[in-house]
Amino acid sequence: MTEEIVKMEKFDVVIIGSGPGGYVAAIRAGQLGLKTAIIEKDKELGGTCLNVGCIPSKALLTSSDHFVFAKKEAEKHGIVIENARVDLNKMQQRKDKVVKTLTGGVRALMKTNKVTTFEGLGTIAAPGKVSVKSSDGKTQEIETKNIIIATGSAAIELPFAKFDGKTIVSSTEALTFTEPPPKFLVIGAGAIGLELGSVWARLGSEVTILEFLPRIAVGYDLELSNLLQRSLTAQGMTFHLETKVTAVKIDNGRVTATATKGNEELKFEADKVLVSVGRRPFAEGVGAEKVGVEVDEKKRIKIDNHFRTNVEGIYAIGDVIADRCSRIRPPMKASLALKSSPERPVM
Ligand SMILES: Cc1cc2nc3c(=O)[nH]c(=O)nc-3n(C[C@H](O)[C@H](O)[C@H](O)COP(=O)(O)OP(=O)(O)OC[C@H]3O[C@@H](n4cnc5c(N)ncnc54)[C@H](O)[C@@H]3O)c2cc1C
Repeated sequence: MTEEIVKMEKFDVVIIGSGPGGYVAAIRAGQLGLKTAIIEKDKELGGTCLNVGCIPSKALLTSSDHFVFAKKEAEKHGIVIENARVDLNKMQQRKDKVVKTLTGGVRALMKTNKVTTFEGLGTIAAPGKVSVKSSDGKTQEIETKNIIIATGSAAIELPFAKFDGKTIVSSTEALTFTEPPPKFLVIGAGAIGLELGSVWARLGSEVTILEFLPRIAVGYDLELSNLLQRSLTAQGMTFHLETKVTAVKIDNGRVTATATKGNEELKFEADKVLVSVGRRPFAEGVGAEKVGVEVDEKKRIKIDNHFRTNVEGIYAIGDVIADRCSRIRPPMKASLALKSSPERPVM
């Protein structure tokens, strides 16, 4: 593929990444009258949240909840639904439609707010210069007064359980199964593992959750996480807490996970395993470090209280920055608990 460089355009602000961080920043910048551009490497705008995160997971949670209602609850209300069953294809089509409507909405908002959209990989060539490499090999150079890095996050892999997209999956694939895996293992009892575990449990999978810590939903109120565990157990999910997975093997398309709990070694067999042990900041290909942008020990971009990095004219927002990647599992801080709930004693 030959590389072709086309003419340079000039902007006040260029945003790299179109997730909830990037697209909201772009809309606001446009509203403030700044000549704004947004660069997205994926086909659709909206980032993780709209395409493979918050929105599709909530669409499936809603649909699977309707199924449980039809099957188990409706009768108590005097509503007779005979032989309630799932058409998973249709359920997935509805989810895709919800996603499409919202990502299409973001694209329309870019137009309304006069934001120029570039499709391709955005790389900071120097402060004030960004290149966009599109899939057809063309590279476009953009000049800008300000750059906002909003490149988000990616699922963390376990060294002994690399994603293969089929048997060892991340949340992205767990949103697109075409049938409920008969036995579904989930490593990690954070928000994402619990949400997707409960979707597939409601749709018929036998779901087992393995969690290293002594409780589920760490980062949330202890009372709430205990209640949630009781409720999910009642829905048929099995929990193994203080259980450390040490190996995952695939044999003939089936998973065997080995784990330790105290001095005991446990084995779990399943058809698929979801590794949901957290997310890491994603800034590969952006070239931030090459132009001197400082990152912390977890590769999160360091910012000040105004979202400025240490390099003049370069800002960062969203999951890629320090303290934001933990949004799913917010840090447990006594000072935060005190601020949000002054009457509650701090343990
Ligand atoms: C299954 C799941 C469920 C979730 N549910 C919730 C929820 O209920 N509530 C909640 O608050 N959060 C939820 N989250 C988390 C939420 O999705 C993220 O916090 C949010 O998307 C972060 O927004 P962002 O803009 O920082 O990054 P992202 O949404 O990750 O967007 C970053 C974008 O940048 C693009 N990009 C990266 N590098 C480049 C480059 N070099 N050039 C061009 N484009 C690039 C990426 O393709 C991506 O589109 C969920 C996440 C998952 C996975």
